Amino acid sequence: MAMRYISTRGSAPALDFEGATLTGLASDGGLYVPESWPQLAPDDIADLAGLSYAETAVRILAPFVAGSLGESELRSLCETAYGGFHHQAVTPLVQLDSRNWLLELFHGPTLAFKDVALQLLGQLFERFLTGKDTHLTVIGATSGDTGSAAIEAVAGRDKVDIFMLHPQGRVSDVQRCQMTTVLAPNVHNIAIEGDFDAGQAMVKAMFGDSDFAGRFRLSAVNSINWARIAAQIVYYAYAAVRLGAPGRRIAFSVPTGNFGDVFAGYAAAQMGLPVEQLIVATNVNDILHRALSTGDYSVGTLTPTAAPSMDIQVSSNFERLLFDIYDRDGGAMAQAMQGFESSRKMVLDDNARSKISGLFSSKRIDPDTMALTMRRTAEHCGEIVDPHTAIGLAAAHDSDLPTDVPIVTLATAHPAKFRDAVERATGTRPHLPTHLASLFDREERYDVLPADIEEVKAYIAERATPA
Ligand SMILES: *Cc1c(COP(=O)(O)O)cnc(C)c1O
Repeated sequence: MAMRYISTRGSAPALDFEGATLTGLASDGGLYVPESWPQLAPDDIADLAGLSYAETAVRILAPFVAGSLGESELRSLCETAYGGFHHQAVTPLVQLDSRNWLLELFHGPTLAFKDVALQLLGQLFERFLTGKDTHLTVIGATSGDTGSAAIEAVAGRDKVDIFMLHPQGRVSDVQRCQMTTVLAPNVHNIAIEGDFDAGQAMVKAMFGDSDFAGRFRLSAVNSINWARIAAQIVYYAYAAVRLGAPGRRIAFSVPTGNFGDVFAGYAAAQMGLPVEQLIVATNVNDILHRALSTGDYSVGTLTPTAAPSMDIQVSSNFERLLFDIYDRDGGAMAQAMQGFESSRKMVLDDNARSKISGLFSSKRIDPDTMALTMRRTAEHCGEIVDPHTAIGLAAAHDSDLPTDVPIVTLATAHPAKFRDAVERATGTRPHLPTHLASLFDREERYDVLPADIEEVKAYIAERATPA
């Protein structure tokens, strides 16, 4: 049976998987979610034991893509997407002590977990656009990790152009070179003379300009895109069966920014995987911790940290959780989100909070605890972890779950991606893996533009292919 996707704000048309993948944001401003959660029986979960990562992906994703892709097509896309990872297990589990595990999600081309979803999304774009008389223009603003993962996913593809805005001088050298040394003709890097918010605001304005958005068929690759969330459900299942599911319950600690990764864990639980708890780990930019612990979902001021991919104020994917919490009432959600967008705050009532606290807990980790966790993990377990992962681990160590529940912390970035912060905390400077060892010797290509929407639009219009 074909899976349909509905908007969290109730009035955009329902779409199939292909439509939801190519669209990104729903036309009513909401996010697409599956009309119902596919169910895995205990036997289905037991059958995942021993399967490869790609084959696990086929089993988990099949119900989500039904109606848009057949099983053998899905299999070939998954095999291609995950064949390029630099570890045979794709997302290996590493044991730290009797109950703590790391799930290493950084063995893709750009060293962050975003590759797991974006490598598949690149394949899906190609599959859904081939043979059609249309062309897609991906635009995005990045503070680092999303940009390179998205560029790697679509570089060299026929029917897609990508324009990625990064704040000039405010991304790390590794992050910049991972974007700007990709010289495929469909990749356009723009360094904006401004901060990340300036880039983000221009991207939003371009999506809001329906003439411009329609002319170039603008598409999003950030985690508002449902296909990204779906792809991330797979590794929760992959890890859980290796640690004893369906017979044993597992907790996950998730370094969280935009709530995409941890929402995939929620989806895994809704599908029947035995998830004991999802620990939402935040840094000092703690809107989610405040929302989950006290109901105060209000936007504060952004503090830059050594875990920049978690430096966010508004977590787009939280809307997907609220939609379920508010019994999937799109009208009520539209009203609540409009209120939030104008006042920058929302209060979660006791009923909503008690529904959330059944599955979620949260922790706010300060910079000292983060650094200490990096150092202790190196000393006691011989593992060098990146700042984002350290925040997840610190939250796991603080957990009050019974000691027989294994806790899997998602290792979201390779330590070499944030080597200055890692060196400061541990005294060890992590090396880039061999496939990136020559990164700084490669030719870079990018243009610098002022933070001026008209100039950026003119730049894109000159280079993009109309739909
Ligand atoms: C994007 C990112 C996160 C946050 O993930 P969300 O899905 O936005 O919550 C955490 N760690 C790293 C390294 C990231 O790149």
